[in-house]
Parts: sequence; structure tokens; C-alpha cells
Amino acid sequence: MSEAYDFIVIGAGISGSATAYQLARQGHKVVIIDRFAPAAMASGWTLAGVRQSGRHPAELPLAKAAVELWATLDEELGASTQYTRKGNVRLARNEEEYAQIRRMVEEQSADGLDLSFLSDNAALRTIAPALSPAVLGASFCPSDGHADPHATVAAFVAAAERAGAVFRNHERVRAIRVKGDRVTGVVTDKNNYSAPRVILAAGLFGSELLVPLGIDVPIDARMVTVIRSVPVERVLDQVIGVATGNWAGRQEVNGRFRVTSGGQAWHKRMDVKDGVRDPRPTIHPPMATLGEVVAEMERLLPGTTMHSVEEIWAGLIDMTPDALPVIDTAPEIEGLVIGMGFSGHGFCLGPITGQILCALALADKPGFDLSAFAATRFNTRSNPPQEAMTLHG
Ligand SMILES: Cc1cc2nc3c(=O)[nH]c(=O)nc-3n(C[C@H](O)[C@H](O)[C@H](O)COP(=O)(O)OP(=O)(O)OC[C@H]3O[C@@H](n4cnc5c(N)ncnc54)[C@H](O)[C@@H]3O)c2cc1C
Repeated sequence: MSEAYDFIVIGAGISGSATAYQLARQGHKVVIIDRFAPAAMASGWTLAGVRQSGRHPAELPLAKAAVELWATLDEELGASTQYTRKGNVRLARNEEEYAQIRRMVEEQSADGLDLSFLSDNAALRTIAPALSPAVLGASFCPSDGHADPHATVAAFVAAAERAGAVFRNHERVRAIRVKGDRVTGVVTDKNNYSAPRVILAAGLFGSELLVPLGIDVPIDARMVTVIRSVPVERVLDQVIGVATGNWAGRQEVNGRFRVTSGGQAWHKRMDVKDGVRDPRPTIHPPMATLGEVVAEMERLLPGTTMHSVEEIWAGLIDMTPDALPVIDTAPEIEGLVIGMGFSGHGFCLGPITGQILCALALADKPGFDLSAFAATRFNTRSNPPQEAMTLHG
């Protein structure tokens, strides 16, 4: 028995949910299948910064377009995403970082982003008074911001369901079916689904489904530790990043601090509790990293680490070799669209990713130059494009 749809979306993170929403609202028959549940992986683990600053030039037009969509997303989806637009500051903690941030401001301003350089501590602390007097300066992008990840994905899911999309949770896609050079559907651990178009938005595990089709998207799992405090008095409006990307943080709308480490190698352990109603994957972070995150928080935001911890987790980032996503139609397989490998930047992009993947699936023009995100760019394993630094947050 096979269920028939116009479109199958694999993965109910922000990328897949936003795509299902776009397809369903245009009247298409869509099923979205997730191994766990909406926002069970990166889209729930995330810091959820919505930023344009610090973006690769190829990604900047997408980030700008996404930020425009974020402005009216609550209205469009009919639910609160807790989106707040009060800026992002990226801190310079030493002379080397100072030069690096100043260069970034010059380059991105030339690319048309409203980004300023706060050249001394006084200028910085006028904007964010809780920051340490030891920080030398920062970039400031006033149109950056943050949102709540679970609320955002839930808003996309609810809007997609209202438009008729079908969500299948706790069902794992085992294979994408192809006949000749055409996609015909997917096989899961519970069912068969047929559709002429499949959108792969499975994040970290997406490549497992591509390897049997001869498509090579190398993904390195980077583990990031996240600490969340109880709700406390507001002292910080902006998202804080640092030049090297090894710390980031923000204070949520509800007052909780959410702070993160840089990326480190994943220890390859992921617990999924059996026998619970809604099993989700949990990654336990190393204690040593917790200490580093807290110590850096105290250095940057003195006095904030006395607050109680409410929750600790680690999240995984789906890093490609050049830290740019794959957003493309599959080479030589008609009907397969790929949106994965967001390399720590995909939350902000979610709303525009949904529109682009929808356009690709409908064979419409995506409206952006996607050449930097081609699925074929990693074919030369011996000489893959490399990006040394990644900035989540
Ligand atoms: C700690 C951390 C901090 C971050 N900070 C930021 C930030 O500040 N700003 C920002 O823009 N981005 C940030 N990111 C990155 C961002 O969260 C991700 O890029 C984004 O959420 C990716 O969304 P996605 O939908 O592509 O993937 P995911 O959210 O990972 O969703 C993929 C889904 O596919 C499902 N799946 C996988 N395999 C299968 C299968 N075989 N069958 C069915 N389903 C399957 C999974 O269960 C999962 O739900 C951060 C990430 C982390 C981990």
C-alpha cells in the first residue's frame, strides 16, 4: 500500500516545515515526514539568532530577504514566534579580533548592510550596558534579532496543517525511491509514499539518504553546548557573538539567558528514550565545555552567572566543508530538491528557505543566485572548498 501525494518533505525542522507551509498554502497535497518530531534536532537545539551580520557574501541576500519576512511572520502564520529585532553585536576581545571585526564591518557595509563599528567600549556600552568594560569594541547590526525556535517551528507546522499539509512524526525515511532518472517517492520504517517531487530537508542526517543515489554532500557534525537560565531581570536586548564564533548568547523574551559554546567534535552519542510518548534525541554535553561557556559569560557579562540554570543540552550543527548550505535540485534526478547543510546559519534563513525550496520543487525561478549552494560542488573530494570559521548566532 502506498499513500500518494504531490510533494513529500523529509524533515520537520524549520527548513522542511516552512517548505511544507509554502507548498500547502498554494493548494498542493503535501506530506512531511520526521524521524522524531518538529524541531526535534537543530531547529529546537538552536540559539535562534536572526542575523545578517557576519554572513558569507553568497548568503547575505538570503539573510536580508529572510529578515524582511521575519518582520511580518507572526501575522502571516497567525502565531507568535517571539521575534525581536533589537540588533546583534559581535565583540572584539583583543586587538586581533578588533581588526577582524572592523574589516567585517567595512566589507559588509560595502555589500549594503546597515552595520556600524562601535570603536570603543563606551560606544558599545551605550547600546549594551551589561557588557564588560574590558571588551574593546564591536560590530552592531540594528536589524538583526532573535526568535523562539520551538514557537517558530510550531507556528509553521500549525499554518501548514491549516492549509492541508499532513505531518507524520516518529517515522524514519529509509530510502528515496528513484525510477530511471525520476524520483517516485520514499520508503519509511512504517509505510510507502509516492510523489513525483521529494524535498530533502533532513539536516545532519540528510546525506545518508543521498549516498545511495550517488550524491555526495559531506557533512561534519559539530557539537555546540547550550545553557539556559531561569527567567531573570532583563539586562540584554541584543544577540551577542564574538569574532571567533566560540561563544554566543542572548536573553530570551521571557528573560531566560540562552548561551552557547563554539563547535567541537561530536562524541557520537545521541540518546533517544524508549517508551515515552514523544521520543526526541538528546545530546549530553561534556562538563569541561560547560565550564568554558560559563567562564566566558562571566568575562563578557559580569555578574550574570549567579543565576540558576534551568536546562543544559548540546546541539549538532550540519557543517559542510565551506560552511554554506546545499540549496539545489539534485543533479541528474528529476523531482528531488535538497535543502540541508545549513552549517549553523539555517534558523534565520528558515522563512526564505521555505520559499526557495518550494520554488525549486515547483520548477519556478527561486529569485536568488543559488550557484554557491550547488549540490555538485563537493564532487572533488580531494580538494573540497574549505571555510575555517563558522559563526552560529
Ligand atoms: C546550538 C546551535 C546554535 C545555533 N544558532 C543559530 C543561530 O543563532 N542562528 C541561525 O540562523 N542558526 C543557528 N543554528 C543553526 C540552525 O538551528 C539550523 O541551521 C537550522 O535549524 C536547520 O534547520 P533544518 O530544518 O535544515 O534542520 P533540522 O532542524 O536538523 O531538521 C531536520 C529534521 O529532519 C529529521 N530527519 C533526519 N533524518 C530523517 C529521516 N531519515 N527521516 C525523517 N526525518 C528525518 C530530523 O528528525 C529533524 O527534525 C544553530 C544550531 C545549533 C545546533
